[in-house]
Amino acid sequence: MLKRNQNRALRVVVIGAGIGGLAAAAALRQRGHEVVVCERAAQLGEVGAGLQVGPNAVKVIRALGLEDAFMAVAAEPTERVSLDWNDGSERYREPFMHQMSKLYGARYLMAHRADLHKLLLGLLPESALSTGRICIGVENTAEGAVARFADGRQIEADVVLGADGIHSVVRGTLFGSGAARFTDQICWRVIIPMDDFLSVAPRLKVPLSGSEYTGWIGPTGHVLFYPLRGGQLLNIFAGRVSRDWAEESWAVGSDVGELLDAYAGWNDGMLAVLAKAKETSKWGIHDRDPLPHWVQGRIALLGDAAHPMMPTLAQGAAISLEDGYAVARHLDQGRADPGAALAAYERERQPRASKVQLQARQQFLNNQRVPAPPPLPVDWIYGHDAVTGREHVAA
Ligand SMILES: Cc1cc2nc3c(=O)[nH]c(=O)nc-3n(C[C@H](O)[C@H](O)[C@H](O)COP(=O)(O)OP(=O)(O)OC[C@H]3O[C@@H](n4cnc5c(N)ncnc54)[C@H](O)[C@@H]3O)c2cc1C
Repeated sequence: MLKRNQNRALRVVVIGAGIGGLAAAAALRQRGHEVVVCERAAQLGEVGAGLQVGPNAVKVIRALGLEDAFMAVAAEPTERVSLDWNDGSERYREPFMHQMSKLYGARYLMAHRADLHKLLLGLLPESALSTGRICIGVENTAEGAVARFADGRQIEADVVLGADGIHSVVRGTLFGSGAARFTDQICWRVIIPMDDFLSVAPRLKVPLSGSEYTGWIGPTGHVLFYPLRGGQLLNIFAGRVSRDWAEESWAVGSDVGELLDAYAGWNDGMLAVLAKAKETSKWGIHDRDPLPHWVQGRIALLGDAAHPMMPTLAQGAAISLEDGYAVARHLDQGRADPGAALAAYERERQPRASKVQLQARQQFLNNQRVPAPPPLPVDWIYGHDAVTGREHVAA
């Protein structure tokens, strides 16, 4: 690879306009670099459901100048409540709102994926996005790297970033596709209007206003409720042990009857809330071992492409936002030698993301034990600041 000595702006191709790819593109543009994001989908629309956005991710959103706008579409739960799956009695209730800001310097927010996605997209000019572009391969060249597309076109750049999600073509090209193991856990995602929740909330044994982060923990699964969009919507995440394989995709069609059957025997009030769903989709949770390398020459992975993780710690989007910001910081500081900058990015990010990936797996296993051991520590996750790359010093 030729060593660059110019201090010129870099030309970067990002494969995938998801949360991580858009964060990387926005942070690179903030620093004056030229970016084109190539996305497989012909259109980017209102897809997905609720995402948890931990304080470590909110720090990145702040650095991108989006914190106020994000606050306007997100929600910060007031309390964390744990309820018995069967009789609906309260196991514990503790304050949540403002607690994370005090401890880690940023809030813990809940948001519709589409709302966060739209804000990130708004940071890019239309000319920086190329939709309907299916990447089929990438390759290092003498001067940089090239991305090839299904329509026969190719784009050369100083750097190619693979932000193409769990089934990454870029990862497959560089490092092989890697075996995914089904974890015997499937999840449903549902969003209902908050008014629908409030209409059945009186059937619950304990008072809930919908502003809480509520968890129902049972022997074969767990169900979470949390608010979105300033409390207009209630997000429901329902995870359940299942021997039936379900596809590793965010949107396998399901129906409300199947969801209700999966929780037969659970608390009546909880089921009345689930029954408010008009539509739902499910996905099968798969697990992969951490990749030892994310970078090859001028090509690097980020987000789920680099570290698909189980949702147990709700850090998939957060770590992807961190990666996006960190890769832009390294490329900007090391613009004279992008290959070395990507290697430094890998040295900073791979150990952290792998540790989160493995802790998500361990926490999932711990949650199956009766009685469950205390939750694994998360200070080191929430307190991290990917904007500077510095570790958290406990408050
Ligand atoms: C449609 C969708 C809905 C989701 N819904 C939820 C949800 O409700 N809750 C939750 O916790 N997480 C959800 N996720 C996952 C969550 O967004 C990611 O785990 C996390 O944000 C990591 O982001 P990422 O940028 O690495 O990957 P993603 O956000 O998955 O983005 C990857 C992008 O790459 C594109 N892409 C894939 N292959 C190619 C290719 N060959 N060429 C070009 N582009 C390609 C995809 O279309 C996608 O836009 C969803 C992801 C998607 C794609």
